[in-house]
Amino acid sequence: GPLRNEDFVELEELGLGNGGSVTKVEHKPTGLIMAKKIILIDAKPTVRKQILRELHIINDCDSPYIVKSYGAFLNEPNICICMQYMDKGSFDSIYKSIGPIDIRVVGKVAVCVLDGLGYLYDTHRIIHRDIKPSNILLDSSGSIRLCDFGVSGELVNSIANSFVGTSIYMSPERIQGGDYSIKSDIWSLGITLIELAHGRFPFNDSLSDDEGDGEDSYLRPDQVIMGSKRKSRGVSLHGSKLTMSIIELMHQIVKEPPPRLLDLNPDGSRRFPEEAALFIDSCLEKETSDRGTPRTLRSFPWINMARADPIDLKAWATNVVH
Ligand code: ATP
Ligand code: MG
Repeated sequence: GPLRNEDFVELEELGLGNGGSVTKVEHKPTGLIMAKKIILIDAKPTVRKQILRELHIINDCDSPYIVKSYGAFLNEPNICICMQYMDKGSFDSIYKSIGPIDIRVVGKVAVCVLDGLGYLYDTHRIIHRDIKPSNILLDSSGSIRLCDFGVSGELVNSIANSFVGTSIYMSPERIQGGDYSIKSDIWSLGITLIELAHGRFPFNDSLSDDEGDGEDSYLRPDQVIMGSKRKSRGVSLHGSKLTMSIIELMHQIVKEPPPRLLDLNPDGSRRFPEEAALFIDSCLEKETSDRGTPRTLRSFPWINMARADPIDLKAWATNVVH
């Protein structure tokens, strides 16, 4: 039957995003454990119904690379989306707790994201629009799946927080307001893969050179928040120190050469396979005509290597404490 809010028991807060929050819940009538995403929207009743209709498509998504959906419902003034609970959480919290991710696991992430994007596009004509580590989830069986894809244009327009839709993983063409395509997801994938392999977000905060901690010149994504650098110095918002404004970051994405996988150790030895760097370079071509598509990228040597890699993701996942 249809999901109703009164049928859920809340078990645990899983996280807070810009658009809402996610809670681990039990669906009492079935005993199923689910992740319930609550999105605070600002829309008229007719628009809310439209959003629910648009969200229907997620129920038809059936792929080993996509988080399963149990359905969506209105709980005024919120929209709730119930999905498969992934007990090892998202790759942003994983690397923040265990550090840089083994490049062989990063290879498996690349395979799953490419196959997931290929499924969404080929089967449903959906572009994901929000590829980033927090939307790539892991469970203890070792399965890696995508969540939070953009099925509903009305939903994005109606989310109460106006910061939604702006992402630090956005491609140059999207930042510049151009037409964007599935290739924008590929850019976001390239940024995501570097972030996982390095254990940090790959854009340089050029203004922090004089700033003291001297340790490195990279940012965690949660350190990048709207606002001016000067004004925000020393100020903390949501527990994160502000170091670079989103405007400065977007300027850098558009104007500077794309980031690359740092594939050499300080002693000159190779840190990552060359094939990984070549794949990521193709994801991060600034010209969309030069950038790979899910189809072309799936035949890259690194992807064939990663597919054939016998690494035991289930065993790896047991080492991820959540
Ligand atoms: P943003 O709002 O900018 O997209 P986000 O992806 O971190 O950021 P949410 O989508 O609200 O925000 O998710 C919050 C957190 O909840 C995620 O980081 C993830 O760790 C957790 N989460 C989301 N969906 C699930 C799920 N199906 N199973 C387990 N944990 C989940
Ligand atoms: Mg998310």
